[in-house]
Amino acid sequence: MSEIWLQNPYIDKTRAKIVSCERTNGEFRVLLDKTVFRYKGGGQDCDKGKLLKNSTIYRIIDVEREGEKTVHIVKGKGSLNVGDEVICVLDWDRRYTLMKLHTAEHIFYRSLIKELPGSELKDIWLTFDDEKREGNGTITVESDRPLDWKTLTKVEAEVNKIIHENRSVKTYILNVKDLTEDIRVRDSLLKRVGQVRIVEVEDFDKAACSGTHLRKTGEIIFFKITSIERKGNGNVYHINFKIGEDALNFALTVSNQVLWKAQNLGYNPDEIIYVLEKYEKLRRSLSYLKTQLLEAMPSYIEKSREVVQNIPIYHCICKGFEAKELAMLGRKLKKKIKESFVAVLLGTNETTSIVAVSKGVNLAVSNVLKEFLSKHGGKGGGRPDFAIYGVKKSNNIDELLNSLVNKFKSELTMLQT
Ligand SMILES: [Zn+2]
Repeated sequence: MSEIWLQNPYIDKTRAKIVSCERTNGEFRVLLDKTVFRYKGGGQDCDKGKLLKNSTIYRIIDVEREGEKTVHIVKGKGSLNVGDEVICVLDWDRRYTLMKLHTAEHIFYRSLIKELPGSELKDIWLTFDDEKREGNGTITVESDRPLDWKTLTKVEAEVNKIIHENRSVKTYILNVKDLTEDIRVRDSLLKRVGQVRIVEVEDFDKAACSGTHLRKTGEIIFFKITSIERKGNGNVYHINFKIGEDALNFALTVSNQVLWKAQNLGYNPDEIIYVLEKYEKLRRSLSYLKTQLLEAMPSYIEKSREVVQNIPIYHCICKGFEAKELAMLGRKLKKKIKESFVAVLLGTNETTSIVAVSKGVNLAVSNVLKEFLSKHGGKGGGRPDFAIYGVKKSNNIDELLNSLVNKFKSELTMLQT
């Protein structure tokens, strides 16, 4: 079988003859005498498209490699038989996007190892989303030191420089024994005897590869890293990228969002980084202050002590406290106060939260809260001695806490009589 894409990836259709055809589960597994479709492999997603037989259209939904064979997974109503003449038509947008992604990946990785020589390519995944009609690339690299945006910004600039220089990309065959040091080859490939296919980006990169690539780097148009994800605690990273129009759209959307937000906040766009850094510092000092406050709060709350039928009841409004922090405070109180007691805490942040705790008292605080808060649209739950609820933002929190404390007082009175 001849694979046309190996010689010329720009050919998007061909006449072919079916040499083998099996039907399973409503799908055909078709082998052709020649094909424009490349299988899934080497980190590149498969091509898709159509098979035309007379006026009937069949969809090619997957292309697999089986040994040396290319198996086309075909769907459609009608019959396909050995000897049938068909026309293969590629989904060209999908193929061309994969060609751009693959060529960009070669340039990207070469730029990366120039900047970080200790990096090793672990994996590549180049895909095309059929619904969004959008391509995505991911490379996984292991580096000998942490990877950051500063380094990647330099790498990204170099990739775009190579794209704008519109360098030529050549493909040729070499005997394994003729491979030179400057060619990137996977070790597994070196063990094989015979020949390898080399893809060369003019004066920049040579790599053994069997994917589909462009003729000129300028066809990529634009390259943009969209995110970095660190895997585990080591220096293994997934780096995601886009190319062409998808990359331009991404860059424009993100930059416009920054411009828009900067304008709304009354800053110049170039001040945004400064503002974010300042915000991060403030956030950290606020979190430190809250930790300090949490330590000091139990002693302060103890001052609210009132006794109802020999049982102390404590209460407090904790402004700026979220439910999580309020719960932490409840646990601290249980630890600090040695006698039997009931405590009601009300926190105000984006929402209003309520925590009720008890110790050594035969009163299910969760039931009291549930009953009381049902008319305030409260949601939550807990155990008999520890309950946490969220309620709609209240305009009068003093009144809310007051009536809640009164409710607990009357429950305690009933308990004792
Ligand atoms: Zn390649």
